Amino acid sequence: MITSEQVYNSIEKKAAERGDFNRWLGASGIGHPCSHYTSLAFHCAFDNNFSGRTFLIFELGNLSEDLICNALAKAGIEVIERQKRFDMPEGKGHVGATIDGVAVYANNYYLLELKTSNAKQWKELHEKGIKAAKPQHFAQCQFGMELTGLAKTLYVSINKDTCELHIEEFMYEQPVAFNLKMLAHRVIGREEGTKMSTRPDYFECKWCAAHRICHGHQTPRVHCLTCAHSKTAEGGVWQCGRFDDVEIPKDTLQVGCEHHVYMPWMVNMPVLGYGEYYVMYQGKNGRVCNCPTGEFPMIDGEEAPNMMTSALMLEKSKEGAL
Ligand code: SF4
Ligand code: SF4
Repeated sequence: MITSEQVYNSIEKKAAERGDFNRWLGASGIGHPCSHYTSLAFHCAFDNNFSGRTFLIFELGNLSEDLICNALAKAGIEVIERQKRFDMPEGKGHVGATIDGVAVYANNYYLLELKTSNAKQWKELHEKGIKAAKPQHFAQCQFGMELTGLAKTLYVSINKDTCELHIEEFMYEQPVAFNLKMLAHRVIGREEGTKMSTRPDYFECKWCAAHRICHGHQTPRVHCLTCAHSKTAEGGVWQCGRFDDVEIPKDTLQVGCEHHVYMPWMVNMPVLGYGEYYVMYQGKNGRVCNCPTGEFPMIDGEEAPNMMTSALMLEKSKEGAL
């Protein structure tokens, strides 16, 4: 018998084969209400673990965009520049926005943002407006207007249950866009973001895919983006400071090498000390020295405690043993 679980499982398997390694800072990521999340996501520090059903929701959203564009066309609203990418100047090819389109009506040009909502979200959006109900979408559009030079947005959200449309126009707000641009610079500069709450039971945090890394003791995924030696460079590439700033090949980026040392702010443990090639943390079961194992038997004349490669730290942290 064919079951829905069978379909979901196949979708998840295909996604796992593709790999979850999207190292691009897009407008929706910059608009996220938690900049710590934005930074962790840009560095692919955690697995999203989306279910097959969630992937279907994303796909339905994509398909709905054409439906909305066709409906707009009937009202004389032309849509051009569908899914066009705009890079942020000085973003070194790591930051930008892929826009849903540009809407043209009566010689006016709008950034077009298309969304789907469930009935509850749509009702709230319709009653309160985008700024209050969907601040992340509002920020995403401000960043999109900054990069495209368009002065206003046409935001359309379709109610998936009733096909009602919420249509809202709003203007570019330079201070908002400026702050988002500064945030983007900090993120690609590999700076730590600010946690939206220090409480693990805070509403937004409870549903966050980064929760175990941010509030728990699980360490991030091990690859070049979570390594303290890497940095962003022009052309959307990454360089390794451990090896004379050489460009890191794409195949290596996803797996790292034996010299990997975690970027300390990504690890949710107090830092006790560090050197060029190691970082010492206070774990709940004692001190931990993250380093290429065997390289640092002595630190400052003392025997280094619990020397662990990043891979071993990850394994131990998943067992709750760090
Ligand atoms: S768990 Fe909360 S504070 Fe941490 S990244 Fe997620 S939203 Fe931000
Ligand atoms: S030291 Fe290894 S893991 Fe770290 S950035 Fe360089 S190549 Fe990647």
